[in-house]
Amino acid sequence: MQKRVILKNMSVNQPSSQANLSLAEVAKRILVCTDCALSRGRTRAVPGEGSEKATLLFIGEGPGYHEDQLGRPFVGPAGKFLDSLLASAGINRQEVFITNVVKCRPPENRDPLPAEIEACRKHLDSQLEIIQPKIVVTLGRHSMARFFPGESISKVHGTWRRQNGTICFAMYHPAAALHQQSLKATIQADMLKLPKLLQEISKPLPQEESKPQHQQLKLI
Ligand code: SF4
Repeated sequence: MQKRVILKNMSVNQPSSQANLSLAEVAKRILVCTDCALSRGRTRAVPGEGSEKATLLFIGEGPGYHEDQLGRPFVGPAGKFLDSLLASAGINRQEVFITNVVKCRPPENRDPLPAEIEACRKHLDSQLEIIQPKIVVTLGRHSMARFFPGESISKVHGTWRRQNGTICFAMYHPAAALHQQSLKATIQADMLKLPKLLQEISKPLPQEESKPQHQQLKLI
């Protein structure tokens, strides 16, 4: 049975009335979205893929060449490395959800602009609300910036914060290891922390850790 969600923050291209959306319906909206300039250069929008019941939700930066061609997230070299990282931690890709902060490929794989991330935020918000993962894993500094505002990825990678009942875990983007081999072991070590974190999330947290230390999530 599909999970559905009442969204208050609708796209400018959508009716202003509240809508009862499923994950598939959010994907349909993304595929036809023209709310930022990235829509003009895309081959296909890449909504994301995986389980609607995912405990883990991974957020990268944006589609690259291969993702843009196939309409699927993390299917190029960085995706292959992510697959190997997941396998090393005993995590089945089919049981997680993988998406990006922007759903359309930035030209020449440049960084997504703040205005593009903001325009696409409603889609990510919808996915987070529907899936309600126990752990959000940020891959790279652009997705990290939302959940660890003002932090440096070199300092927070491999650590987590609890915000509004969701644990946010920061990692380098897998592509970083392809450009900088010295990061490979760091990314591998960080991924291996996830199974233990998954085990621990059912335990009650100490009072001081349960208090949000950073900006609250604004999902709706
Ligand atoms: S990047 Fe996001 S906001 Fe921009 S056109 Fe694509 S789906 Fe729409």
